[in-house]
Amino acid sequence: MVTLDGQTGFHTGCSLERIEAIVRAFEETGDVTAADPDAVVDHGPGQTTFPTPELSGLRTGVREILDGCGWRRPTDPADHEAVGGFVDPDPDAVIDLGGTLDGRGWRDLCHDAPLADTWESVRSAAGDPVVVVNAHGNAADTLLLESAPFEALDGAVALADAVGAERVIVYASADDERAVQTVRDAAANYPDSPITVDVETGPAEYRAAEPSMAIESLEGNHRLEARIRPPDLDAVGLHGRPTLVHTPRTLAHLSVALREGEPAGTRVMTVTGDVADPVTVEVPASETLETVVDAAEMTGAFKAASVGGRFGGVTDDLTVGVKPDALAANDLGSEGVVRVLADDRCLVEFVGQRAQFAADENCGRCVPCREGTTQLAGLLRDVYDGGYDPEAIEELIDVMTTSSICAFGVQAGRPTRTALSAFESEFEAHADGRCPAGSCLEPLEA
Ligand code: SF4
Repeated sequence: MVTLDGQTGFHTGCSLERIEAIVRAFEETGDVTAADPDAVVDHGPGQTTFPTPELSGLRTGVREILDGCGWRRPTDPADHEAVGGFVDPDPDAVIDLGGTLDGRGWRDLCHDAPLADTWESVRSAAGDPVVVVNAHGNAADTLLLESAPFEALDGAVALADAVGAERVIVYASADDERAVQTVRDAAANYPDSPITVDVETGPAEYRAAEPSMAIESLEGNHRLEARIRPPDLDAVGLHGRPTLVHTPRTLAHLSVALREGEPAGTRVMTVTGDVADPVTVEVPASETLETVVDAAEMTGAFKAASVGGRFGGVTDDLTVGVKPDALAANDLGSEGVVRVLADDRCLVEFVGQRAQFAADENCGRCVPCREGTTQLAGLLRDVYDGGYDPEAIEELIDVMTTSSICAFGVQAGRPTRTALSAFESEFEAHADGRCPAGSCLEPLEA
């Protein structure tokens, strides 16, 4: 973006050379349109909200939680203050708002559940509570830390004050270097507060984002295993203290609700996979997956979407609503990540890779997940040898889903279960030695 005096030019797909050319043209002319931007928006000077252009990936949806992203200077308190940030709310008002907000993402202690009861129990528990901001491994959470870290910090500090915690810890993957540095800078610039904000990193492994493994990581344990619950982390968490673990999305929703007086009621979702560029959009909860998927430019014809992150459900039906209950009713996940697959993708190959990932990455603590994921990957390999046994696959996934200790094992069979339901003919074709997509086996007919 190039902005001057109430006018902003947007340039897409910028290489470093292109950025240099844009800056040169602007310096020579003082004109934001000099380097032929893809879109220009006229707005008043001093604009505090993002001036949305008619461009793919940006024109979709609304901007409540994401409003600061790409517009306010991420680590400058003045920009956040200009939109009413750094609220100092009454603790009871925070807890009350928790009754109208749900936790966002499986990395959140209150995934898809109202927050107030957990907050009340932490507030009344014995011991010094602590608030952990779990930013590990979700694209929208990383985006918030990179682009609007004060939204997450504001929510976390208000929550800490409400439950009597003196410390907030932001936890992120060590690989997300820019997010870690940005939130560190923002924490250093945060206005004076009795609450300390620290930023800690953990290993990049997928499982390190699971709330109890995040706590293990923060305690310095190198061998990450999920904790058996109960007791849950809100009772016995970091170093035995009552601990709240929430994602930046959850806390940004709290921050915006405190400012606006009511929840935004939106869903923040990232589209990735067979797209020209991944996009993160915010849509009203009344929208469908189709609106979300249309925000990104696919690189091929749409075939399927894996909805709900790494272990999301596979579907070809985009008329499903984005609300968690609508997604759950269709065996899809509410993690806020939609991976789209173009028509040259093979679903058997795709879910086989997901099963193998689960077999490689689980923590090994419980048998249903440790052995189940390995057996599932084996059963999916057998499909290629004509050993397609849908009943054995479904039975195994059933055991994994009902008996695993943590969300990793509970969700690990979902890609296969949903693909079997929506794309069964692909499994049957593979058992006959044929890949309809032509991607993992040569089709019998040229
Ligand atoms: S479900 Fe998987 S990741 Fe979770 S405790 Fe069991 S083995 Fe570990």
